[in-house]
Amino acid sequence: MSSLETILEQSLASLKGVGPKTLQALQHLGITTIEDLLTAFPFRYDDYRPKKIAELIDQEKVTLRGVVATAPVLVHFGRKKNRLNFNLQIDDQVVLVTFFNQGYLVDKVTQGAELTVFGKWESARQQLLGMKLLSLNKKERLAGVYRSSKEIHATQLQRLVKQAFERYHLQISDLLPQNLQKKYHLLSRQQMIHDMHFPADQAAAQAAKRTAVYEEFFLFEARLQYLKQLDQQQSGLQINYDNQQLKKFISQLPFELTAAQKRSVNEICHDMHRPIHMNRLLQGDVGSGKTIVAAIAIYAAVTAGYQAALMAPTEILARQHADKLFRLFEPLGVNVSLLTGATTSGSRQRRELLQQLQKGAINVLVGTHALIQNGVEFKNLGLVITDEQHRFGVNQRQALRLKGVQPDVLALTATPIPRTLALTVYGEMDVSIINELPQGRKPVKTFWLKKTQLQQAFNFIKEQLKQGQQAYLVTPLVSESEVLDLQNAEQLSEDATKFFAPEYQVGLIHGKMKSDEKEQIMTAFTGGKIAVLVATTVIEVGVDVPKASVILILDADRFGLAQLHQLRGRVGRSSKQSYCLLVADPKTDYGRERLQTMTETTDGFVIAQRDLELRGQGDVLGNKQAGLPEFKVADPVKDLRILQTAQIDASQIVKQPDFGKTAATKPLLHYLQRQPLGFD
Ligand code: ADP
Ligand code: MG
Repeated sequence: MSSLETILEQSLASLKGVGPKTLQALQHLGITTIEDLLTAFPFRYDDYRPKKIAELIDQEKVTLRGVVATAPVLVHFGRKKNRLNFNLQIDDQVVLVTFFNQGYLVDKVTQGAELTVFGKWESARQQLLGMKLLSLNKKERLAGVYRSSKEIHATQLQRLVKQAFERYHLQISDLLPQNLQKKYHLLSRQQMIHDMHFPADQAAAQAAKRTAVYEEFFLFEARLQYLKQLDQQQSGLQINYDNQQLKKFISQLPFELTAAQKRSVNEICHDMHRPIHMNRLLQGDVGSGKTIVAAIAIYAAVTAGYQAALMAPTEILARQHADKLFRLFEPLGVNVSLLTGATTSGSRQRRELLQQLQKGAINVLVGTHALIQNGVEFKNLGLVITDEQHRFGVNQRQALRLKGVQPDVLALTATPIPRTLALTVYGEMDVSIINELPQGRKPVKTFWLKKTQLQQAFNFIKEQLKQGQQAYLVTPLVSESEVLDLQNAEQLSEDATKFFAPEYQVGLIHGKMKSDEKEQIMTAFTGGKIAVLVATTVIEVGVDVPKASVILILDADRFGLAQLHQLRGRVGRSSKQSYCLLVADPKTDYGRERLQTMTETTDGFVIAQRDLELRGQGDVLGNKQAGLPEFKVADPVKDLRILQTAQIDASQIVKQPDFGKTAATKPLLHYLQRQPLGFD
């Protein structure tokens, strides 16, 4: 390793005690380099400084130091369970210390010895529920509590961080230019990283966090600005589309475009035609008709002799897009193909597809993440579109772009994040907005039912089916357990079959299904053969079956507002009145507020705003679902003003003509350049 910076880019294999298994476990937490590890900050701190009894607050995690006043008593219950009790004298008071199932500690507890215990304080009983015995020579301070997983324990992570910091702290150089550090009284990067992990006290932890938040936002914004600048330096493609053909295509669509769709088409075509590089976001609420706008842009690119790529976050959606484009384009001699993870690698089918693509025989390639894999090479990619773009990271969007020389980029999103936030998060893009729904749409009527009313809901749905409509039944999301999700879905499918069949066919779709099974089910539902589709959240985004007019969502309080809004967007896609039935008995105010909001409005912007206001009250939804990038320490909602400041600062710095050439900005440029353009 020669240059300083590259040491932090090294893999973690250089650390002691890190074998292939640990490497993998760390990778699952998103930690692959020394730098990742050093910035994997604790999410809270345990206070290992002994407190006085008078200072204690009920249920607080505290450290007490005293002298063991009575011989310890260990009681066993069965083979695995036990309880260890002893009295600890602190100054002139005595408290009871109890450890559950840590009987092995008994040897360390001898009458008359001095002991430091960390645990939870029960003030009513003057009792400490012991969690850890601390060694006496342990430096008295705050101890970071780290994220952990099944594969790697928090304390192991903590030890690795310590080792990495001890070995590499001299290589941590500042990324923020000095003047900003001074202006906001921020810590050096080395100090910040030290104090985030090993703060001397709460004040130090807070000061470190202040620096960390600013730095994280700054680096994010600097990156956006840097990418934007790279774009502008290169001249983009001039896509000379055939206006006559395009007009004809639009006039032959089965419906008239809305004014907002027309405006968006114009903006996009204008960009494509100019020899600059288009980087445009098409924002429109669910059901506003973004797909057809994308299709028009694709057709324009094809008439100019270019290939186009459309990437969607799920296989179901990719397939739906491919089908739609196929139907639109086939009569025009435009060749559409689909590439997903299910197009088995190494298979003949895949090989042939990739050959055709490289030869230019395929005009339009639709797919999932599979599009950005190695080996997918276009002949002359002119336009890249990502649907539901918030589901992809900046890296993934970027990786698809790199498949072409300088293709134009259009990103579709339904995520109505408030404008102030949008500007900071999508600052690098121009925006077109579809702010109206196609004519004749009625707001989806939304009802909130108790679980005991499920039968009524089923009856209601049957009435809809009798009128030739179709329904989705969505099962709750059980966090991180696909097995449980599946059991729920299967149970519901059974109940629904008992109720609706044989008159109406019930189908089940979930993420664990093989892709051809999923395809069969979706085809049957789209074609109307299946009337009731029981689904996990695989149908959350993008699925478009206009005849479906009811969606029932079980345990709706388990979903975040952004998700509920997306799910509800599966209905209300024709001029027929649609319904959304939310079944839930929420236990918290936050849960009730969310359901209430859903029954009050169908406006995505209002919901997004409400979402942000409510977020403080609990954390059901990750930023990803709300359409925001995920930050490690910073919170784009809570810290919006810092984000805005960081944006202004970052763009000023990156825009300087000598950016990256001065000592003050060299490390930053290097940092921005070494961010991998990969995909996860
Ligand atoms: P989203 O913006 O959520 O992606 P879609 O593009 O899936 O919405 O469009 C929703 C439905 O509305 C589709 O069935 C589509 O064919 C239809 N649609 C789109 N534009 C119009 C229009 N101008 N008039 C009538 N229907 C339209
Ligand atoms: Mg869509």
